[in-house]
Amino acid sequence: MNKAIFFDRDGTINVDKGYVYKLEDLEFEKNAIEGLKELTKTEYKLIVITSQSGVGRGYYTEEDMHKFNHELIRRLNEKGIKIENIYFCPHHPEKGIGKYKVDCDCRKPEPGLIMGAKNEYNLTLQDSIMIGDKTSDIEVGKRSRCKTILVKTGEGGKDKSYNIKPDYVADDLLDAAKWILNNKNE
Ligand SMILES: [Mg+2]
Ligand SMILES: [Zn+2]
Repeated sequence: MNKAIFFDRDGTINVDKGYVYKLEDLEFEKNAIEGLKELTKTEYKLIVITSQSGVGRGYYTEEDMHKFNHELIRRLNEKGIKIENIYFCPHHPEKGIGKYKVDCDCRKPEPGLIMGAKNEYNLTLQDSIMIGDKTSDIEVGKRSRCKTILVKTGEGGKDKSYNIKPDYVADDLLDAAKWILNNKNE
């Protein structure tokens, strides 16, 4: 069995400029690369879990999103960081257009994306960790029985959509990485 660290994308790894998809808008959050570098040295698989309702809303296409994701992975690879996969939900229950208007099981905090990763990588979710900047990231982690870390970058939990109690509140991904590495040694 394997274990993973699940990362939200916008506001956690890269700066959330609002429905980001243009390559020129790819800017990494403070200490994100440094934190991911530390976590690359661990046995955790690094997996991104992202809600991209901008696709469903018609703001950009799935292809635009894939281009952005590939560039994100490429830039991190250059730094020696290996992202295993990026799972995305393009839906929105009300604002989605056509086939994207779905009350799906993969939009956070629904655990569909994490369950897909669990099956693909044979993960033990109890040993896995979800990191994100919104309360829905913490809620999806909790519903999936992962440990949870809220980062203060991006929204920093201020959306208050869900009443959450993360296992740790980190300044940024480097602080989150340090907490994970310290906990492992206990
Ligand atoms: Mg986010
Ligand atoms: Zn979905």
